[in-house]
Amino acid sequence: MISRAKPAKNPPSRTSAEAEGQAFTQEGILSQGEVLPSGPAITSSRSHPPRSKEHAITPGPSASPARVLLVDDDLQVLKSLQRMLQAAGYDVTTATNGADAATHAGKRGFDAILSDIRMPGMDGLQLLLEVRQHDLQVPVLLMTGDPSVSTAISALEYGAQRYFTKPLDPQHVEREIQRAVQLRRMARLQQQAADLLGNDCMAADRATLEGSFERTLRNLWMAYQPILVSNTRAIYGYEALMRSTEPTLPHPGAILDAAERLGALQLLGRRVRDLAAGPFEGQPDAILFVNLHVTDLMDPSLTDPGTPLARMASQVVLEITERASIDHVPDARPRVAQLREMGYRIAVDDMGAGYAGLATFAQLEPEIVKLDMSLIRDIHKNSTKQKVVRSMTALSQDMGMLVVAEGVEVPEERDVLLELGCDLLQGFLFAKPGKPFPEVMG
Ligand SMILES: [Mg+2]
Repeated sequence: MISRAKPAKNPPSRTSAEAEGQAFTQEGILSQGEVLPSGPAITSSRSHPPRSKEHAITPGPSASPARVLLVDDDLQVLKSLQRMLQAAGYDVTTATNGADAATHAGKRGFDAILSDIRMPGMDGLQLLLEVRQHDLQVPVLLMTGDPSVSTAISALEYGAQRYFTKPLDPQHVEREIQRAVQLRRMARLQQQAADLLGNDCMAADRATLEGSFERTLRNLWMAYQPILVSNTRAIYGYEALMRSTEPTLPHPGAILDAAERLGALQLLGRRVRDLAAGPFEGQPDAILFVNLHVTDLMDPSLTDPGTPLARMASQVVLEITERASIDHVPDARPRVAQLREMGYRIAVDDMGAGYAGLATFAQLEPEIVKLDMSLIRDIHKNSTKQKVVRSMTALSQDMGMLVVAEGVEVPEERDVLLELGCDLLQGFLFAKPGKPFPEVMG
């Protein structure tokens, strides 16, 4: 059983002056950017003589203790760990179940999370997955009274830092927490250094992220959502949307984010395009909408005539989001022209939600405009949205472009969009994205 432990001390090899120097250096770096919570062991004022004048540092948020989230349904273990960590100078938040812990973790940043595995409801492994959805960096340490190979493997796979078996050795746990907090700090410093140098390298958990991403690529599949002709409700085509069964990257945003961090966007794009084409083989009349990332425009394989997608190019609409600027794509115009020569059509996606605005639109001169769902949501209740959509639709049609309204969810939205003249409709009201090919309702 855990007993109350002594406050953490500086490693004996480090002198007070060295410790002061380290504190000064850290705060010196941090004062230029984001501040880091300082761990209790290195800068604890109790264990050092008062700072000399020339080393005086304005106390700031960096003086706040490291934050630890502690999770266990066993109250006795929870209390004794809490006492131990508080005595060591940590700011401790406790939870007795995974769901409460996930809520805490979503609200504030922790420097380390120590959680039991077996708990009623959301267990420690599920908590780890939940945390990884919005924080790839925070060290998570798991403990269990019921060790097994399968939980140990899952813990490693999802990027847990340590796996303790109960009964716990308090000194060991405390050392590991201290180490986790230090690694967390180092990861932040690496990120700061990378930002400072304009370097986009990922810090500590690149290997974990790579593992998640590789599994995602292996089990990636495409869902298809019908796009309908608004007045006849005939199927015009299908948008291919990537899906993965990989729990650590559970939605397209997380997958794209990981690909971007790993410099693997083109790899992902190729996989998506090859998969998307699959179900359309031998279906010469079906139209396929495929999402491109702007960096895909620079991928030579996009204009390779031998790919499955290129072989059906005249049936394919390439969607390029208005959320990203294509300004950094060299020769965007000739690249897009080459795609058109191959038979592809171009759509501007997420129109109205973007930051790139007119520049992307003007460079692409799309055949199809997809209005962002944020413009469509509750359009029947919002006369300003109606005006904007009416004008965009009229102008697009004047320029010979088809207009798709995305994200149509209720009949009232559909009716207004029909009245405003949108050519094509897409959304949950008609069909959710699914395996080829979902049935149409609404
Ligand atoms: Mg799209």
